Amino acid sequence: MSLGEFDLIAKFFTRAVKRAALGVGDDCALFATSPGMQLAVSSDMLVEGRHFLPTVPPQRLGHKALAVNLSDLAACGARPMAFTLALALPRVDETLLEGFARGLLALADAFECELIGGDTTQGPFNICITVFGEVPTGQALLRSGAQPGDDLYVSGTLGDARLALEAFRGTVVLDGAAFESTRLAMEQPQPRVALGMALRGIATSAIDVSDGLLGDLAHVLRRSGVGAEVWADALPRTAALHAMPLAWQRECTLAGGDDYELVFTAPPQHATRVATAALSARVDVTRIGSVSAMPGLRLLDSDRQPLANTFGAFDHFKS
Ligand code: ADP
Ligand code: MG
Repeated sequence: MSLGEFDLIAKFFTRAVKRAALGVGDDCALFATSPGMQLAVSSDMLVEGRHFLPTVPPQRLGHKALAVNLSDLAACGARPMAFTLALALPRVDETLLEGFARGLLALADAFECELIGGDTTQGPFNICITVFGEVPTGQALLRSGAQPGDDLYVSGTLGDARLALEAFRGTVVLDGAAFESTRLAMEQPQPRVALGMALRGIATSAIDVSDGLLGDLAHVLRRSGVGAEVWADALPRTAALHAMPLAWQRECTLAGGDDYELVFTAPPQHATRVATAALSARVDVTRIGSVSAMPGLRLLDSDRQPLANTFGAFDHFKS
């Protein structure tokens, strides 16, 4: 016999809370915010077929559902505190739920981010998480702060998630090891929470790369009223992507999507502090260009020659 709604919540999604005053089980959860801090709130929805493939192992799906939300907190320099989980499920599949909850709650524990509530309903498979974080008042990293003359940086590597997606689609062929490593990047991204927090007071602007570098960077440039030069061939990439033809490397790094790395700007005089922040957060950071007063985004190749920007950012209603 399959579990009912409340048994399902009790079995998979109810845990003792440590930080919140009240967790799952009442009409609202309760948690206190600290004086001098602002609440950072963000929601992300994952829809089957749109954001994940039916082939994803449930544990990785649980991880990713929370990771993409933590990535938004990271982009603001906020510390994760709690989250809610709204789930639509076609049917109660305990094997799926067990794996999903395991991946989800392992990441939640790793970032001390508590599950405090949610909603559960029958329907097409859909996962919506809202995360709550905190950041000292006035210190959140915003999209709007980039200044002409700032250096432009990205964390980690770009493009692997897109490469894996293309392998699933059959447009590229990868060897076993490359397929597994890029698939892991696509299915189990690591949110750069420590880096975001370490960049408070150093970075002038930040965003997480979810829809492709160029598209997401364009949001920063527009909100900041500046332009940028991007060194296309200097974008960090893994050996798996490096083994692909240059055109694929550019497409995946510039417009790939699902990277969940941080793109941020900082004045040149803070270069050492950026390096120290990266070291403390245990993630590589690469300089990929400069911010300019001239609006627009200029792509340069490895010879510093202009590269035509024919790369499109992902848009749910245009693709
Ligand atoms: P209400 O009808 O008042 O909205 P529900 O009956 O939907 O409450 O939910 C009962 C309790 O279970 C609430 O505390 C709610 O936050 C929690 N809850 C429901 N679904 C989930 C879920 N997927 N994960 C965590 N908590 C959940
Ligand atoms: Mg409800």
